[in-house]
Amino acid sequence: MFRRTASEARVLILAPVGRDAELLAQTLRTIDVESVPVPSVDALLKELRVGVGAAVIADEAIPPRQVHELTSWLSSEPPWSDPPIIILTPGGQSKLYSNQRAQQFSTLGNFTLIERPTRPEIIQSAVRASLRGRMKQYEVRSRQEALLQANSDLEQFAHSASHDLKEPLRNIRLFNELVLKECGDKLDVRATGMLEVVGANAARMENLLADLLAYTQASNIPEGLPEITDGRKALHAALGNLDASIVEAQAEIIAGDLPAVRMRQSHLQQIFQNLIGNAIKYRRDDCPLRISITASRSGECWLCSVADTGIGIDPEFREKIFGIFQRLHTTSEYPGTGMGLAICQRIVERYRGRIWVESEPGQGSTFCFTIPV
Ligand code: ADP
Repeated sequence: MFRRTASEARVLILAPVGRDAELLAQTLRTIDVESVPVPSVDALLKELRVGVGAAVIADEAIPPRQVHELTSWLSSEPPWSDPPIIILTPGGQSKLYSNQRAQQFSTLGNFTLIERPTRPEIIQSAVRASLRGRMKQYEVRSRQEALLQANSDLEQFAHSASHDLKEPLRNIRLFNELVLKECGDKLDVRATGMLEVVGANAARMENLLADLLAYTQASNIPEGLPEITDGRKALHAALGNLDASIVEAQAEIIAGDLPAVRMRQSHLQQIFQNLIGNAIKYRRDDCPLRISITASRSGECWLCSVADTGIGIDPEFREKIFGIFQRLHTTSEYPGTGMGLAICQRIVERYRGRIWVESEPGQGSTFCFTIPV
């Protein structure tokens, strides 16, 4: 069942001249629809904010200027909402007048014109259809709210679980190391081997939990205007953290000039670190590794890219690799958690950007992401 208040099922009537409002209310009462008369467009807007099933408006009650006011209120409605509006037009008007008015009303979106004089059945069927459509909209709202709630509960669970599991896991790894160190000479090769497997698995799980935590933390990036970060600083910090693996892989790093962008430095650093870390990890043995980092203006965004000369990716998996825990290799081939790109995607999307990869197997990969200016 979905939630809908009484005010969201009512029909608002704006027909202040003559007996129109009263007759309309009577007509609707016979089909058990509650209506509320409003004396002006301002009063209509006030009531619309409370909730509405449909609105019936007499043409003469809404001058062009106020059609705009109504349109601007409608455009501020959430995506699920498209309130139905029935306009009662005067009969016997010139074609030019009718066309002009229809054009003005078209900005209202979900509107129906009914020419007067009309019959009660026409009004009743138009209102019934409008209320039915509006009810579906409220259903969509309810489902959306339930989904958002379930999502947030799940995020909260993942966050708490990864946070709370960190400490006991750390203890398992530390005590395991202690046993190996202090009692190693009393253990046979088999026992030592088994404890080493315990240690490796605990370390792997620690990495998984750290990535899961980073992923859930990326959901808490606040809405609103983000701070300005010097892109060069974020890249420099990422390269610093990857220094040992860059040296080991003998990677050549070519970094273009990076702009100041609207993103927290730690987030930009994390994106670079994950993408450059992957470029190093998924390198080819038979050709030198070159990693190029560039940024350029593309319309209303900065377009950043990290290109490598590595093993490349089959186009079939271009989207899949951004999913959580999605990997194209086993841990024995390449270590990893399958979370790095999911974290990048989550961060980029929280800043209203996009991330994607261009790649062919054996031809290297270019990861691109945008950050709105
Ligand atoms: P992980 O590296 O821990 O597996 P990611 O989410 O960072 O997780 O990457 C997902 C998958 O995408 C990787 O398992 C790998 O198959 C592929 N991938 C990511 N970056 C690259 C790259 N630069 N070159 C080739 N394959 C890559």
